[in-house]
Amino acid sequence: MPARRPSPDDAAPLDVVVVGAGPGGYVAAIRCAQLGLRTACVDRWTDERGRAAPGGTCLNVGCIPSKALLDSSHHFHNVNHLLPGHGISVEGARIDVTAMQARKDRVVSSLRRGVAGLLRKNGVELVTGTARLTGAGAVEVAADPPRVLRPRHVILAAGSEPTTIAVAPTDGERIVDSAGALAFTETPRRLGIIGAGVIGLELGSVWSRLGAETVLLEALDDFLPAADRDVAMEALRLFRRQGLDIRLGKRVTGCEAVGDAVAVHFEDAEGTQRIEVDRLVVAVGRRPATAGLGLEEAGVECDDRGFVRVDGHGRTNRDNVWAVGDCAPGPMLAHRAAEDAISVAERIAGENSRIDHRTVPWVIYTHPEIAWVGRTEAELDEAGIEWRSGRFPFAASGRALAAGDTAGFAKIVCDETTDEILGVHVFGANASEIIAEAVTAMEFRGSAEDLARTMHAHPTLAESLHEAALAVDERAIHL
Ligand code: FAD
Ligand code: NAD
Repeated sequence: MPARRPSPDDAAPLDVVVVGAGPGGYVAAIRCAQLGLRTACVDRWTDERGRAAPGGTCLNVGCIPSKALLDSSHHFHNVNHLLPGHGISVEGARIDVTAMQARKDRVVSSLRRGVAGLLRKNGVELVTGTARLTGAGAVEVAADPPRVLRPRHVILAAGSEPTTIAVAPTDGERIVDSAGALAFTETPRRLGIIGAGVIGLELGSVWSRLGAETVLLEALDDFLPAADRDVAMEALRLFRRQGLDIRLGKRVTGCEAVGDAVAVHFEDAEGTQRIEVDRLVVAVGRRPATAGLGLEEAGVECDDRGFVRVDGHGRTNRDNVWAVGDCAPGPMLAHRAAEDAISVAERIAGENSRIDHRTVPWVIYTHPEIAWVGRTEAELDEAGIEWRSGRFPFAASGRALAAGDTAGFAKIVCDETTDEILGVHVFGANASEIIAEAVTAMEFRGSAEDLARTMHAHPTLAESLHEAALAVDERAIHL
């Protein structure tokens, strides 16, 4: 098709163009608009009917659809595993995967409409198309009609995409990435997952709860190396008991189609092994989606892994070009992207905002959930910082017992001398909600004593954090 001429409105002055409408991009755009900046947000994601689909990875194929499926599969699992303990028996429960997926899709499209509505309400123009920076600081948008935007500032929020590996090339059918695994139309009988990281565990949990024999092949010998060691070991034990066949120290060397199945070859300490699965998910990390953004032409520096280089305020090496979220170095998490975005928007508007990645909470939405903020004991040891810790098991929590959900524990690690909280690690039901209190305490540089002196509603799971704080000084009441 011949290229169309840019439309006449391209000359209108814009303060900011945001590239990407994920949690980094759309939040940046909204905050810019709130601060009085004339803002457009460009995103190429469209739905099955070709309509704009803002929300990025998080909303379209990430946080939200995965949590929708985790919730559905958790309810199904509870029917047979939790409810009988409450005296509720359900005969012949079955899962309708089509209905489950349709519900997930409704959740996603409703939130997409929500994001589009928020952009509209704030006066942000959502431009659908692929953006590219030019040497002259303009943003060209391959759209119909094509656009050339000339803003004072550009915020790059292009996000990330799944890392691919040559030994397991995805074909969208039998070998898929996380987006493919969110869209299965039936439960695979045998599911293989390469990578026992966050995605492997979350999506492995979904399909395993629905009946898939699930094997996770992890290259490292360590399970969840970034997590607290006690949490990781307890989680490994429990997840295996739940039926996730997590195999550590397995290096995949190749895959091949065998009839309708996939043979996966891997090596471990014993030599060469082979398993056969019906579907294989590649979940070995994500990489920045910066190729094709015109960064080289625009003189914007990236590191050797393709992340846009930024200073502590989200500024790139080029004046008035900023980067937030997954496309810049740092935790690849939606809330981090959104907080970066607010800070950058405020800096553009002349405020003195800061980006602080020290208190980014991490959550893995397995059951029980794993959540943490701050540093682990091992990291503190490595940094030569003396610490003390207190730990409280959910088995001793009245609320956990009442719910019949007693696995796991909460742990607080604090400075040996000052008592400042340096890390909080929770493995248990609702850990994702409990961790928010720890984040707040750490933001205020609170101490274990501060938490120990804070009244917690009874009976709640959050009381376990209170008890863990008391346990730092060996004065937990219910231990
Ligand atoms: P993205 O959300 O990736 O958005 C980038 C946007 O930029 C996309 O819409 C893309 O279309 C657009 N774009 C890129 N290049 C161009 C271009 N040249 N022109 C126009 N548009 C462009 N994080 C959590 O915090 N919690 C979770 O529970 C969680 N679960 C996840 C589950 C899965 C299965 C996956 C894959 C990820 C999950 N994440 C989760 C990670 C989270 O999705 C990302 O950290 C987050 O989306 C990053 O936001 P972002 O705005 O930086 O990028
Ligand atoms: P990950 O980094 O969490 O896990 C990838 C795992 O794959 C690692 O354990 C790694 O050792 C292993 N691996 C790498 N190459 C391998 C190979 N060739 N063979 C076997 N194992 C291999 O990455 P992910 O699970 O793909 O998730 C990507 C990112 O998305 C996460 O890091 C996170 O930032 C984000 N995410 C967050 C959430 C959440 O917040 N709940 C959920 C999903 C994804």
